[in-house]
Amino acid sequence: MKLNKKIKNTLLILIFCLISTTLLAGKTDDAKSNLNKIQKQINLIDKEIKKNSHGRRSAQSALFHITHSLIRIMTPILSFTAHEASEIIFQNNKKSIFTETWYQFPKNLMQGKDLNDWENIIEIRSIVNKKIEELREKGIVGSSLQSDVEISAPIEIYNSLKVFNDDLKFIFIASKVTIKKNEKLEVSVNKSEHQKCERCWHYCEDIGHSEKHKELCGRCINNLYEDGEIRLYA
Ligand SMILES: [Zn+2]
Repeated sequence: MKLNKKIKNTLLILIFCLISTTLLAGKTDDAKSNLNKIQKQINLIDKEIKKNSHGRRSAQSALFHITHSLIRIMTPILSFTAHEASEIIFQNNKKSIFTETWYQFPKNLMQGKDLNDWENIIEIRSIVNKKIEELREKGIVGSSLQSDVEISAPIEIYNSLKVFNDDLKFIFIASKVTIKKNEKLEVSVNKSEHQKCERCWHYCEDIGHSEKHKELCGRCINNLYEDGEIRLYA
């Protein structure tokens, strides 16, 4: 079977990402979570309708920097795969991956409040992930998306969480995230009471609201048949 160039290139990049996760020893969970997001963003990229969207451009930039960094890390270990991937990545530039040095990420892409907000989010995410994992081990939830997360947080963390608003559920890979102010930080995770959307696998209360598409959530109907959702952060 002859694969067209676009499919072949996407497969190669996916294989490349999968191999890379195994290289990130000790950070496998983070790597899997990030890879999951990257794959979802690849789907987003392929939607022609989102051609100039913030999400598409953001995903492309992240993939560009991650790919250029990882390909240099893996070259001494997986030379043939790195060489094949480099022929796609460097395309018009005939340079060889074997003469490259470490990739330098752009400096100061994020700073000040933005950076502080993300640092808070990453810290909270590790707490949420732990709580979800406990439920999974007990067999209460089958996947992370079956969880509803509630976070009570001191004002500084609350304000950081509030910035991300509806995108929080994508960052925490949960179906619903609610936040409220509290003197001390408290995180609780519960099994969602709602049905699972057949397309996005989120558990939502609005599944079945549409006569035409009973198996889909409102967000998927919006993305498939209407203007599409706006996601700014994740
Ligand atoms: Zn859905």
